[in-house]
Amino acid sequence: MRLNWKWAVWSGAAAALALGAVFAASPLGFLAPPDPSALWTWSLESWESTSVSASGETLRIVHEPLALARNLALASLGFVGLALSAPRFFEMFGRASDNPAGGESMGRVLSARRQFDGELDTILTLVRAHLENNQTYSAALRKGHTDLASPAASPDQIRAAIILLIAENQKMLRETEEYARNLDESRRQVDELRATLAETQELNVRDALTQVYTRRYFDSTLEREAREAAETDGELSLIMADIDHFKKINDTHGHPIGDEVLKNFARTMCSHVEDKDTVARYGGEEFAIILPATGVAQARLLAERIRGEFEAKKWAIKGGRPIGRITASFGVAQLRAGEGAAGLIGRADAKLYVSKSGGRNRVATDES
Ligand code: GH3
Ligand code: MG
Ligand code: MG
Repeated sequence: MRLNWKWAVWSGAAAALALGAVFAASPLGFLAPPDPSALWTWSLESWESTSVSASGETLRIVHEPLALARNLALASLGFVGLALSAPRFFEMFGRASDNPAGGESMGRVLSARRQFDGELDTILTLVRAHLENNQTYSAALRKGHTDLASPAASPDQIRAAIILLIAENQKMLRETEEYARNLDESRRQVDELRATLAETQELNVRDALTQVYTRRYFDSTLEREAREAAETDGELSLIMADIDHFKKINDTHGHPIGDEVLKNFARTMCSHVEDKDTVARYGGEEFAIILPATGVAQARLLAERIRGEFEAKKWAIKGGRPIGRITASFGVAQLRAGEGAAGLIGRADAKLYVSKSGGRNRVATDES
């Protein structure tokens, strides 16, 4: 069944209201103040009231409608929370699914959505079943109370009333335990769905070939970092890197070898950065590294280290033609006051062009 979210939210709210009404209507609900410590147990046997029968015997009746009411209130709140969070949950999935390379993740999204619908159905059914049980239980308690309070009640009638109450209590206890187990299972399923969501999001921000971040993730991260650097007066540097004569590598050795070179270059960059930094594929054989809290001199040293390590690699193809040396060029710039992400990219790119036109396999910076 596909759930309509508005309907789900209203049903959840209605369930919570109905619960309040059932509890308020219960004749035992307001009879005596409950033991506050009993409010936090799952037991139904923590509240006692007494009644004196016609024959003068004092009878103890053990029940706790508050525990039941609390359990139902928790379930209703949980359900309303789930229903309210669902649109955002799927909005996030929906955003993730606009990635054209996201065929596999789209399948996961649809399957997660079906499971989520199923969990909402289960919780709805649980809440509905317990509301019905609560009404039956309240009616039994009301009847037991009337029978016991009657001055004309015979010992046999009193015994029957007590047996009824004990049986109802035990039934309710069993159902509440079952209910708690079902809720736990639902919570476990929702946790699993959350993990799937996190994984899917990660899949959608990573470039499929090189596993570094996508251009889209780079754009939003640089915007955010530039804003934060401006607000905190912090440093922010950007490295743009481009593999030299990459087209020739593809043309000479084939596209699959070109792909391996791209993956290797990405790994080399990642091995030099810290967790706070973001390595991204800017497009084709061009990459970028966002370096928060980093000045241009430090960024240049980092670019130099990556350039040197990449240049020194020995490339070989089993049985094929030797590849020889592969190099890359770098442009480095630091965010200036009043500048935004686009300005920083423009200056780092201009420095990359300076490296290319200066002979390649070098680092150019905007250091004064
Ligand atoms: P330059 O030194 O001036 O950067 O020259 P270049 O040959 O590296 O640059 P150019 O822009 O002429 O060529 C880039 C090539 O990168 C062309 C394109 O086919 C190739 N390319 C882009 N993406 C991929 C990819 O994912 N895999 C492979 N194998 N090649 C790619
Ligand atoms: Mg190139
Ligand atoms: Mg290029």
